[in-house]
Amino acid sequence: MNNELYLDFLSKWQQIVYILVFITLGIGVLNYIFFKISFMSKKTYKEKFDLASEKESKKLLSGHIFVAVALFLFCNTLEYETMKLDELWFFIRLFVSLCIGVLYGYIAQLIIKFYYPGVLEKKLKKLRYTPRINPENGNKMKLLSEEEEDAYLDEGMQAEENVFSVDYDVWIDESTGYTKIEKYKGHLSALECDRCGFQTLRLAKEEIIKEATETEDGELLKEYNCSYCGRIKRKNVVLTRRFKDSSESGQLIDNPLDHDGRITVIKVEIHGSGGEVKEYDFQNLDQAKNFLSEFDFEKLQN
Ligand SMILES: [Zn+2]
Repeated sequence: MNNELYLDFLSKWQQIVYILVFITLGIGVLNYIFFKISFMSKKTYKEKFDLASEKESKKLLSGHIFVAVALFLFCNTLEYETMKLDELWFFIRLFVSLCIGVLYGYIAQLIIKFYYPGVLEKKLKKLRYTPRINPENGNKMKLLSEEEEDAYLDEGMQAEENVFSVDYDVWIDESTGYTKIEKYKGHLSALECDRCGFQTLRLAKEEIIKEATETEDGELLKEYNCSYCGRIKRKNVVLTRRFKDSSESGQLIDNPLDHDGRITVIKVEIHGSGGEVKEYDFQNLDQAKNFLSEFDFEKLQN
């Protein structure tokens, strides 16, 4: 009698849990697919960057948690014939399934927390530095350097950039002068930790030790924290003094490589954020300069 009750329960359990496996797996996968669709439907690289940097890891983690639950449920449908023998088997299977599900979730969480940031970082770099297109004429725009961009940023933006980890990227269409300014939060991106090697070193604190004046450089203390190995890294950064005339900064004085007969080869090595390395040899500085002035990263990739 008791046994019949158990067998009845067992067959119902089998049916219901099977359905639950598919429901859970479906929710997990759909959740991630919806995220991917919303990522693809973002029109600009900047919007894609923001979405990915804010949500990608979380979506991936929640997706894997659903998979872990589905795995736990699925294990609870195995060995049906053995379960009929004794109720004890049912509890053993329940326990083993729980262990498998938890183990899967735990490993997925470790990978997403410690390994995945490096992958994401590469993806984010690509989104951030892929040349923007001028919507007016389809021209490829150029990203200005830190020195060049100041002319396009208002005082508030410059102050923000100088003080804390906010970065403004200024893209310009050199033929028309059309500019596009994008704001990035520097503290969100993680660096590679020099102790454990994971990309888990993040800026935790910034403090101005000495303000920069017009005549003297200032000093900024940056404190980084590794969420994997706990390393704390402090770095002093020079706050360059503010030149009144911006043309004064960023100019090369007499170039030491010009017209020097002792130099036979100039090597240029270009490293991409995706790990690509290309090396080029030139016989003189003019050749190298010409090459660099026409350099196009996309050609490097192809
Ligand atoms: Zn570390």
